[in-house]
Amino acid sequence: MKKFSEIELWKDVSPEEWKNWKWQLSHCINTLEELEKTITISDAEAYGIKEATKELKMRISPHIALMMANGNHEDTLRKQFIPSYNEVKTSNVYGLYDDVNDDDGYSPVKGLVHRYPTKVLIFPSNFCGCYCRYCFRRKLKRDVEDCLKQADYDNIFKYLREHPAINEVIFSGGDPLVVDDDILKYVLSKLSEIDSIKIVRFHTRMIITIPYRITQDFVDMLNIYKKRFALYMVIHIDTLRELSEESKEAVCRLVDNGIMCFASCPLLHGINDDEAVLQSLWNGLVENKVKPYYLFQSDPVQGLGHFLVPLSRGLEITRNLYDNMSGLAMPLYCFNVPDGGGHILISYPYIKKVGEHDFELTNFEGKVTVYHEARFDEMDK
Ligand code: SF4
Repeated sequence: MKKFSEIELWKDVSPEEWKNWKWQLSHCINTLEELEKTITISDAEAYGIKEATKELKMRISPHIALMMANGNHEDTLRKQFIPSYNEVKTSNVYGLYDDVNDDDGYSPVKGLVHRYPTKVLIFPSNFCGCYCRYCFRRKLKRDVEDCLKQADYDNIFKYLREHPAINEVIFSGGDPLVVDDDILKYVLSKLSEIDSIKIVRFHTRMIITIPYRITQDFVDMLNIYKKRFALYMVIHIDTLRELSEESKEAVCRLVDNGIMCFASCPLLHGINDDEAVLQSLWNGLVENKVKPYYLFQSDPVQGLGHFLVPLSRGLEITRNLYDNMSGLAMPLYCFNVPDGGGHILISYPYIKKVGEHDFELTNFEGKVTVYHEARFDEMDK
């Protein structure tokens, strides 16, 4: 295993700097020249980087680049984070969307999306620890990395006070954990003054991309607010390959402090559209005290055509896995209905209605049982 200090680009970096999340965030790799100082890049990759970054810039954290340096050329990390010419080839395709969720259409104030009756998304920033090449929010302009300002938060708090049916706030992004602790503390403290807010979730990939973000100070801050809200951390992780020792330590720090951790991922062609890959991911997460929460059907977004998995294959994969895995390890399989239709749950049809109160039930062995539903109003006949 190579150490960071053995790599040309970081030969003068101290261990303290390396483990500092702000150093990692401010030293992400953005250019081909920097990346070539950490890993070997093929001509095709170099061309992909040149062309695809015209649409979405490259951003790879030193932590992830070091993991790549310790992998081989087939490493799925490369497909996840190195720009590819396929993004250009699928960037103007009939049937793919610019904004599949129609976030703008459901955004009454800057930085907030209100799509469901009782929950909202808040986007504290427009940038992330790394840019995943399959990001369904590709349209977010990241040329200028930006965070919400005090006035934006004031408008958001006002909106939440005026809509007391909202009881859940989900911080998403960009990645909410690129924001400093003092700003997050201010936001949590203001939210804690709004009686209707009971649940707070952070959706983050920083635990994977820059795991040093989970400092004791950050956890101590969460510890204050977990007394006021139900506080959840939802980690975006697509393969077990991404779960480094440092990421495991970050998860442990959260779990040991009573912060519940969940995980979600999109289904991605060439990365995790494989039963064995997902089985090892979900079992590995449960072993590390993280509950798999959502598997998202790949979003039909411009530039992501090469990552799309057919729905029929997604149903096949989930059926094969759901039939053979512990319920604890099984996430919900979901699809974002295009044009802002929201999430729907999808699954293989284990149950089929064949009469007014009769059903055919198919079990994990494919055995079909006809079930007549007993009804209380018939029981005394
Ligand atoms: S961390 Fe999430 S929001 Fe950021 S680039 Fe990756 S998928 Fe997109």
